[in-house]
Amino acid sequence: MASWRLCQLFYRALPRNAAAPRTVYLNRSVLRAMSVGGIPTDEEQATGLERKTLQAMKKGLDPYSILKPKSYLGTKEDPHIVPSINKKRIVGCICEEDNSAIIWFWVHEGPAHRCPSCGAHYKLEHHELPH
Ligand SMILES: [Zn+2]
Repeated sequence: MASWRLCQLFYRALPRNAAAPRTVYLNRSVLRAMSVGGIPTDEEQATGLERKTLQAMKKGLDPYSILKPKSYLGTKEDPHIVPSINKKRIVGCICEEDNSAIIWFWVHEGPAHRCPSCGAHYKLEHHELPH
């Protein structure tokens, strides 16, 4: 009896259209999860840019520079690689690990550039976005 009264109170508390019948559309991954009894994985429920990124990461690619960049020595033989969709890009060099100041400079296409403060080498490489 008390639970019936509680239900009546909840029903009155709902907005008017909440009790109206609704059509619910489920996508394929949700239906699959319901039929198999599991929760869909990221790959099953990802769409758009997230899906493209997940597919690229399966192949070992990082088209949107999501992951931490590979570390380079910064020498002439192993310069820091700066990916860019243009012919130049601004770079901020934290010359020493504990520095609070960042040295900003342009890196242009062509031979490696050097940081004006510490002398580390930076080389621009053309990068195509996958869309
Ligand atoms: Zn530097």
